[in-house]
Amino acid sequence: MKQPRIRLTLSVTHYIKQFKLKMDKEKKMNSTQVKEKVREAGADLVGIASLDRFKDLPAESNPLSVFPQCKSVIVVGRRILRGAFRGVEEGTNFGSTYGCFGHSYLENQFLSKTIYDVTCYLEKEGIEAVPLLGYRIKGEDKVLADGKPAANVILDYKILAQAAGLGEIGKGGFFLTPEFGHRQRFGMILVDEAFDADELKKVSLCENCDACAKGCPLKSIHAEKTISAGLKGHETDIFTIDEKICKVCKNGAFSQPVASDGVDRYAAACGRACMTALENKVSNRFENKFRKRSVWSVDINGSAAELSFVGGQAPVKN
Ligand code: SF4
Ligand code: SF4
Repeated sequence: MKQPRIRLTLSVTHYIKQFKLKMDKEKKMNSTQVKEKVREAGADLVGIASLDRFKDLPAESNPLSVFPQCKSVIVVGRRILRGAFRGVEEGTNFGSTYGCFGHSYLENQFLSKTIYDVTCYLEKEGIEAVPLLGYRIKGEDKVLADGKPAANVILDYKILAQAAGLGEIGKGGFFLTPEFGHRQRFGMILVDEAFDADELKKVSLCENCDACAKGCPLKSIHAEKTISAGLKGHETDIFTIDEKICKVCKNGAFSQPVASDGVDRYAAACGRACMTALENKVSNRFENKFRKRSVWSVDINGSAAELSFVGGQAPVKN
């Protein structure tokens, strides 16, 4: 009696497999092939968000406002080298270490080149593809086309990276991935092809941690007051942050009004505290610990301040 049922299950599974293979053949390329190309172009992370995940975003940050035929968003990430943080951690070099290799070259050249090369490839395959960074570059500031939001529509890379199954927003406001924690930058490619989407990923790296809040010398992160952030229906609770203070913070923060993050906090005291807290939780690990000595800090005026407890660890005296 059991055999026919097994045969039926097998034949349905076989049919579904054959149907998927046929669909993949009919597509110009499948999601595995696209991801291979993205990695060959230098990406460390790649995920795909399908239309159902972003179609309800507000028009001011919706991929469909930029490209109404968009069916998938390919989110591309490149790691911020741990070594790029060293000069800031030591308090001895900000510009030619992090400023170049962690920030401007990484976003404007390396990541941009990866996105550009993949877009060229997709266009050769006959897929219309729109390359984008999450930059907050001002546009016309007025509605130019009926029923459309004003230019520039600015995509939220954190929401789209979550929609593409790459991770989630951590309590300190950084986008966290299981591979690198907060240490990556993202760009996006909007395509008119419906690629298979990645599953959403719950990373839960922030459990029992408030190192970013403790590591902020200016007490700008309020761990006691949280708000929810992230993709609708999959939000996480994050600490409130006083961005006005971050804008003038001299503890490794870079104020970049037009870049993807208005204030770039990755290398700031809060960001380095996060990196230190996560170094044994992420998959990209190192033989030696990042933090080797006590942490420097300055107050809001740029004068040396003292910290009693940094990044979840008591400071080490030299
Ligand atoms: S950028 Fe500066 S002020 Fe803002 S949370 Fe980080 S360390 Fe604190
Ligand atoms: S320092 Fe801890 S709590 Fe803050 S964002 Fe990083 S993992 Fe989350």
